[in-house]
Amino acid sequence: MARPQSPEVNSPAPATGSGYQVVARRYRPQSFSEVVGQDHVVQALGNAIRMKRVTHAYLFSGTRGVGKTSIARIFAKCLNCVQGPTETPCNTCDICQSISVGQDVDVIEIDGASNNGVEQVRELRQNASLRPSRARTKIYYIDEVHMLSTGAFNALLKTLEEPPEHVKFFFATTEPGKIPVTVLSRCQRFDFAGIRPDQISETLGSICEREGIKADPEALLTVARRSAGSMRDAQSLLEQLLSSGNAHLTEQVVHDALGLAPDESVLDLIDALADHDPAAALQIIEKSFSSGVQAADLLSGLLEFLRDVMVLAAGAGTDLLGAPPAVRARLAAVAGRWPLDTVLVTLQLLSEARLRMRGNSQPRLLLELAICRAARLEDFTELSELLARIDNPQAAAGANSRAPSPSVKKKPLSAPDEEPRPPAGIQSVMAMPASNTPANQLDGQEPRRSTGSSTDPLEQIRQVWMQMATEFGGKLENHLLRFTAFHLAGPDHLQVQVPPMYNFSADACELPENRSKIESALRAALERPLILEFERQSLAQPVVRRESPSANKSLKHKDLEEDNLVQDLIKLFEARPIHVEVEDEADLG
Ligand SMILES: [Zn+2]
Repeated sequence: MARPQSPEVNSPAPATGSGYQVVARRYRPQSFSEVVGQDHVVQALGNAIRMKRVTHAYLFSGTRGVGKTSIARIFAKCLNCVQGPTETPCNTCDICQSISVGQDVDVIEIDGASNNGVEQVRELRQNASLRPSRARTKIYYIDEVHMLSTGAFNALLKTLEEPPEHVKFFFATTEPGKIPVTVLSRCQRFDFAGIRPDQISETLGSICEREGIKADPEALLTVARRSAGSMRDAQSLLEQLLSSGNAHLTEQVVHDALGLAPDESVLDLIDALADHDPAAALQIIEKSFSSGVQAADLLSGLLEFLRDVMVLAAGAGTDLLGAPPAVRARLAAVAGRWPLDTVLVTLQLLSEARLRMRGNSQPRLLLELAICRAARLEDFTELSELLARIDNPQAAAGANSRAPSPSVKKKPLSAPDEEPRPPAGIQSVMAMPASNTPANQLDGQEPRRSTGSSTDPLEQIRQVWMQMATEFGGKLENHLLRFTAFHLAGPDHLQVQVPPMYNFSADACELPENRSKIESALRAALERPLILEFERQSLAQPVVRRESPSANKSLKHKDLEEDNLVQDLIKLFEARPIHVEVEDEADLG
């Protein structure tokens, strides 16, 4: 859509003085061919006109600034233009011109938010029964229609059921879910898509051209990306930039003028989150704030890139990415080392923070709180998955290769002397007694070097656990299945590791009746009593086993590294052993 849009009401409004019109209004699309990003809507409405199949009620749903009002007005012009009905209204007749500015006598625009009562709708119904004063059809455009009261919807429904021949309803909403089904079912519904950043920046480019402003494509793309698919928001930002008096819009000008966080800071922040480094994250926030970045803008930038990390971590193609090509390599590197589940929880935490930030007087505190919580999240790699990989390292290596770039090294942020550590899940696997432990006695077999086959007592317990869960069924099953990591603290002392999110499941299992059910099922299956302990993890601390005080350190790091299983683990996860636990030799019997 390189063609500049025709200005509203035919001549550009003066840029100064009382007649000044904001950019978003001045460059509102005036015909279907000028609409950006809603091809499916434009095509369907055009077809309806051409085939004379225009129905009496339309619902346009979509977020703000994606063109609902613009399309409603264009469609109204199509129907009522003196040269119509036509897909290409003249935009010069009285009717077209008055519809363009939302002031036509027969195209009545109503704000559903402020006219939401039964009385208003009754009045509307009375007026609707009157013929249009000069045009073919009387059109009611109700914006934010979901704001109508229940009574108002009921009153409206009567008109929708038997609409007068000369009346059409166009409804617009940002929340279609709040519209009664009885009303929805009587409308032809169009869902408006968010507009792609490249489409927005192209439109911004043509506006700058018309305004005589030089603008770098990267600068406009930055504006477009920060507008989250809303053309109106993008145009408002551009307005801000134009009013700052810069004759040449560069990326730096955009960042400075709009208080946006540079991509570099946002990427550093994501690295800090993936590295579980809240201190580094807070430093980055401080730096951004002191350069004038607002909390909400920093968070928006963060969410935008995190969404792309999620896309990459999920294994989807780069065509789904919104980030500019220059930063994709770094996003891919993060996606390669940050488990998808952790990315999802992080996104959720930060999205909630953004909601809470609206209207809050301490946005910075909320941002820092959310960032710290996100940085302290464990890596939610399913331990069962890790165990499966230990069973079959080759298959695991194959499965691993679909991750975008697992081998990319992290960029040091701060504290470069800090030892890199594997994700907590891996630590707990590595800390498990793999062999030579008293646990092997559970099944009465000779202690032997196990490579994680089902003779591994922990694996055996895991299987018993899963089976027990299935047999119990119901809610208890759901609770039990959340635990996949176990540790034998002693020959008959089973520690169940509770993932950080599932403390409530541990609480449920610890209810006396459930605990006795679980313990007796385990006793029956394993033919010995077990002390059951649910070990809740602090979000901050990776799982590191306590060292037995009387430990005889016969198994040193060196021995450990020579163990086949450990070597597989090291290779598989690019891990390194950081802690060796030695059980009391007396327990080996
Ligand atoms: Zn016309």
